Amino acid sequence: MAATQRILIENCAIATVDGDGTEYASGHLLIEGNRIEAVGEGPAPVQLPGAVRRVDATGHLATPGLVNTHHHFYQWLTRGLAQESNLFDWLVTLYPVWGRIDEAMVHAAARGSLAMMALGGVTTASDHHYVFPAGAGDLLGAEIRAAREIGVRFTACRGSMDRGVSHGGLPPDFAVEATDDALAATERAVREHHDPSFGSMLRIAVAPCSPFSVTTELMREAAALARRLGVRLHTHGSETVEEEKFCHELFGMGPTAYFEATGWLGPDVWMAHCVHMTDADIAAFSRTGTGVAHCPSSNARLAAGIARVPDMLAAGVPVGLGVDGTASNESGELHTELRNALLINRLGPHRERALTARQALRLGTRGGAEVLGRAGETGSLEAGKLADVVLWRIDGLGHSTIADPVAALVLGPPAPVTLSLVNGVPVVENGRLLTADEDTIARTARAESRRLATAAGR
Ligand SMILES: [Zn+2]
Repeated sequence: MAATQRILIENCAIATVDGDGTEYASGHLLIEGNRIEAVGEGPAPVQLPGAVRRVDATGHLATPGLVNTHHHFYQWLTRGLAQESNLFDWLVTLYPVWGRIDEAMVHAAARGSLAMMALGGVTTASDHHYVFPAGAGDLLGAEIRAAREIGVRFTACRGSMDRGVSHGGLPPDFAVEATDDALAATERAVREHHDPSFGSMLRIAVAPCSPFSVTTELMREAAALARRLGVRLHTHGSETVEEEKFCHELFGMGPTAYFEATGWLGPDVWMAHCVHMTDADIAAFSRTGTGVAHCPSSNARLAAGIARVPDMLAAGVPVGLGVDGTASNESGELHTELRNALLINRLGPHRERALTARQALRLGTRGGAEVLGRAGETGSLEAGKLADVVLWRIDGLGHSTIADPVAALVLGPPAPVTLSLVNGVPVVENGRLLTADEDTIARTARAESRRLATAAGR
């Protein structure tokens, strides 16, 4: 190796999102390799030996990279469909299309999803993939390849469905797996790909899809498998009133009680949505340390309702943000979720006190890292943590007159990303993706989207 390459970012506002919410009106960040070496007020304190790249970040806000905690990359190919549907109608419309996906389609969709998020300041992504049609190829491998190509830190959630229509579930039978096959493939994915080390670029989680598409046996066995392998658990929970009704009819209890009965509450679990939660449900999440992926845009698009985020935060529940699949949130980037988390929760009972701009930023960074089990590594700008850093330009047309840098980022239009570092490596510079060509990704995704529509007979 040559002399240590450092990156020094100076003259910018900094929101560290550390435990004390430390901010600097004008500060510096020093990065060495894949770690943050120092962060502080004013210019860097010392003459730095060796090779240093100096970035004059005047007019910018530096934050931790955004963390996305829930997504379905493959839906990049089926955006803009079933526009006036609730969750169950939307699923019934789309399952037959999704049941025709293959490896090339998933690779193109993952590249599109990841590129979109990276351009919007996401440095850690996760994906929940649960559609594995027979003979479709290595779908999880296609996603992992795409994340490596785009250069984003990644948690791949190996999902599954084994309750088809003929067993009282919602998905068509040809889109589901046999229970044992799903468990074996999930274990194989963990053994082949999961890297538990500090700074890992790839983790695997165990992730059956939802109570209405998965048997109780698979829920129980998946929880046992994840604990045996030492990986995290993820699924959808309490998304809609219809789901609540389904759980009561089929299991004689609500979703949270069902999760508890099947081993699905714990500090190693995070659940997407959690819209329809009673006080007792929130208390159960708090008691067990179960995390939540809040997806406000998707919940609004499917008219699911407003998750009780202020109550969850007050109870100490870990909460992060999720884009959710782009068939229910066509924007596909996380800034929208920061903004909508604040705006939509203010339409709930807590009104103007529901969430502050700083709480919204925290959800999208540190909160997401907590939910993914990575709060010791990323999610805040602190010495020793990973160099996942975004520089947002806030002196341009959209932001120059907003009084407060954090309000500019959360309440303003999407801020241009001047620099995004993942693991200390520049992935976005001056609004351009450095790791791939955006137009090529767009063209390939459109071609694969058309191929999928044709395969599904649409
Ligand atoms: Zn989802």
